[in-house]
This record gives sequence, C-alpha cells and structure tokens, in this order.
Amino acid sequence: MSPISKIHDAVIVGGGPAGTATALNLLQAGLKPVLIEKESFPRYHIGESLTGECGACLRRLGMEEKLVAEKNPVKWGVTVWGANGKNQFWVPVAERTEEGKIRETWTWQVRRSRFDQLLLDTAIERGLDYRLGEAKEPIVQDGVVKGLRYVTPKGNAESLDARLVIDASGQGTFLANKGVTSPKIRGRYDRQLAVFSQINGATRDPGDAADNTLIFYQRKHHWSWFIPLDSEAVSVGVVVPSDYFSRQKKSKQQFLRDELKTLNPQLAWRIPDTPFVEEVRGASNYSYHVDTFTGKGFLCVGDSHRFIDPIFSFGLFFAVKEAEISSRWILRYLDGKLNGAHNPFQDYQEYVDRAQDIIQTLMDCFWGFPLAFLRLVHAPATWDQMIDMFAGRLYGDVPQQSTVLQAMRKLLAEHGQESPHEAAVIA
Ligand code: FAD
Repeated sequence: MSPISKIHDAVIVGGGPAGTATALNLLQAGLKPVLIEKESFPRYHIGESLTGECGACLRRLGMEEKLVAEKNPVKWGVTVWGANGKNQFWVPVAERTEEGKIRETWTWQVRRSRFDQLLLDTAIERGLDYRLGEAKEPIVQDGVVKGLRYVTPKGNAESLDARLVIDASGQGTFLANKGVTSPKIRGRYDRQLAVFSQINGATRDPGDAADNTLIFYQRKHHWSWFIPLDSEAVSVGVVVPSDYFSRQKKSKQQFLRDELKTLNPQLAWRIPDTPFVEEVRGASNYSYHVDTFTGKGFLCVGDSHRFIDPIFSFGLFFAVKEAEISSRWILRYLDGKLNGAHNPFQDYQEYVDRAQDIIQTLMDCFWGFPLAFLRLVHAPATWDQMIDMFAGRLYGDVPQQSTVLQAMRKLLAEHGQESPHEAAVIA
C-alpha cells in the first residue's frame, strides 16, 4: 500500500514579493502555506521604488519596523523631468485621511536582494513551509489543479498535493507557460528594452528630497530612472525601444554610460564618471497580460499574470496588493464557501484586472498624450484623483468613476485606443 500523501491547503510558486506577501497574509489568517522558490536568496532583482499604497500593504503585514531598522531610504515622492530638463512635475507620496483628505506620507526604496530576503525570512519565522526548488509541472485532473511537481537543487523530483496552487512566479509565468491559464498576450510596451545598474556618489536633490525617485523623459518610450538605494548607491536605468538599442551597436555598459550623459541635462550632471558598482543588466519583452488567470484550484498574483510598464513603479504594488486581496478569496475557498462555482476566483480576477486597467489607461495617456496628461497633473480640479492613481487607490467602483479616468479613456477612444489590452498572443 502506498502511503497517503498530505494535501496542503496552498502551495505558492515563487518567493518574490507576490509570493512572500501572499504567504504572510495567509500566515496572519492562521494557515501554513508551502512556498517553492527556485533561486537561492539573496539574489539580484530589479524593481526598487515603492508606491504609497505598497508601503501601506507592507505596514499591514507588520514590516515597518524591519524596513526602518534596515535604514531603507525614505521616498516622499517622484519628480518627473520633461525633455531637455525644461519642465517637471512632482508626485508626492500621499494617503487619504479618514475624512477623505489627501495627506503627505512616505514610503520606501528597497534593494531587492535584501528586501526579498527580508520578506522571505519573516514568512519563515512566522511558520512558512519553504522549499528551495523549481516548480516543473502542475498536477491537473479533470481540469482542476491539484498540486505540482518540482525538482530540488540536487535534482530530486518531488510532488506536492494541494487544494490550491498560487502562481507568484513573476515573469517566469509558470501556469501560463504550462497552458493552465489562457495564453500570454503581448502588452503595448512589449518592444522596449531596459538597461540598468547602480552607481555610487551620484548627486541627489538636497535635504529630505535626497532619497526620492527621479524620472527623466527624453521622448516617447525613451526615459531613465534614478532611485537611491542607500547613502552611497543609486539604481540607474534607461528604457528605450529595442530597435533603438540594436542600432547603436554598443555594449550594454557603454550604452548605459552614454545615455546617462545625453538623455536629459537634468540627469547628466548628477552622474559621476566612476565605474558602475553592479553588473549592467538588461530586461526586454516584459509587458504582457493573461486574460484568464484563475480557475479551479489555481490563481495568479503579481507579474505572473500581468506587467504593464515600469515607468511609475507599480510592479511591487500590484504584487503585494494582489497578495492581500487574493487572500480574502483564498480563505473563503478553503473554507468551502466558493465550492460549486465554475471559477471560484472569477470575482477576484475581475476585481484586480479592473484596477490594473486603470494603470494601463494612465500609461497610455502619458505616452500617447503627454500634454493632456500634464494638464491633468497640474489642474487643481483633477490633482487629487491623479494622486490617488499614482498612489495605487485603484480598487472597487469609486476609482472607476473618477472623472480623470473617464477623461483619459474618452481621449484614448477618440484616437482608436479603446481596449486596455493589445491582442497579440506571445509565441
Ligand atoms: P518576482 O519578483 O519576479 O518574483 C518571482 C519569483 O518566482 C522569483 O524569485 C523567481 O526566481 C521565482 N520563480 C519563477 N519561476 C519559478 C519556478 N518555476 N519555480 C520556483 N520559483 C520560480 N516595480 C516597482 O514596484 N518599482 C520599480 O521601480 C520597478 N522597476 C522596474 C524596472 C524594470 C526594468 C522592470 C522590468 C520592472 C520593474 N518593476 C518595478 C517591476 C517589479 O520588478 C516586478 O513587478 C515585481 O518584482 C513583481 O513581483 P513578483 O513577486 O510578482 O515577481
């Protein structure tokens, strides 16, 4: 007789912020999830600037004390410099008070190797069952996901039976690659390339502004970021159309160095002529979405189902916010309250996708109609709503009814961009 294997409540694929935040939320609710991560931490990862609401999610997970103790840089906002360094706009990190008033607050910049390790260690301290290994195959019976097979670093094949598999594999898009979700569709900002590294001793803004994010615009789809990581290092990156990079015929290192000096005069004077202190890396084809990312026995969180564009730092926010939101559905599912439904997570899927659609609209408007966008950021009548969007207050019906959102969608529709999605299946 074969031994009866344990059926776990929830198995999470991926130990990035989406996976660990999901684990932390489930642990807070008294569950003991299993998490599989293929890379040994600490490991490098891009994505270092948090939105205000991302900070709020981390505070609700009890992470504030640790982030403060680690001296993560405090971010009060973002300055976006226009072409040639001539204009700028400021987006403060702001929250809503109980009375509904906008109030300045702060969030963090994070070095991802350390931040991701901190979240994972905290989850393990709180009882996470963590396994180092690579998820290879979901176990699917009659259209229902019932667990997964994974391989340990020593090459041993293992399997886990589970009532629910949560895909938090980021750009690895585990369940999409295995055909469990609907196919991956290219996003509008797919043919872009980011080249990035870190540099010590770059010149920052004075005083409290020293650790804020700076964004430099050159022209459509051609921009740069400047994100302080500690008192010395700043993350610097340049994003361009992929064919622009190919035409330059330069190494990534030379390309980044030259772009930092020529992209925008407000950036050039900040960058010292010293070597980069991190490997110069590239990321491309990072913009995609999956329409159906939930079903019987599975759901996706964070980059594993959608990533739009890095410019306004929404990636980590969606990862930890969807972790928080999905946990509400997961608990009801595990309590047997969503049994019988054709897709127990359909409402979760619609709820979080509608929020991501708002950011798709924001980006489409920024890239397609920068002057109209600037008017919305500067106009007193629309400023509050813009700040809500930048912070990440995107969920439920109220944000959908915002006049700013309607105005942007009307503008896009007048120019033939009605759908927030582009319909090209990634081969
Ligand atoms: P990840 O952080 O990628 O974590 C996924 C984890 O799953 C990884 O550790 C991986 O090793 C593991 N994994 C994958 N496949 C498997 C498998 N089969 N088995 C086991 N483990 C697996 N976001 C921001 O908020 N701010 C920014 O400033 C920002 N800048 C960005 C700049 C660029 C150029 C890009 C491309 C993105 C940027 N982002 C930014 C986005 C951010 O990096 C991601 O949105 C964020 O990391 C998503 O978190 P996640 O947990 O979903 O995925």
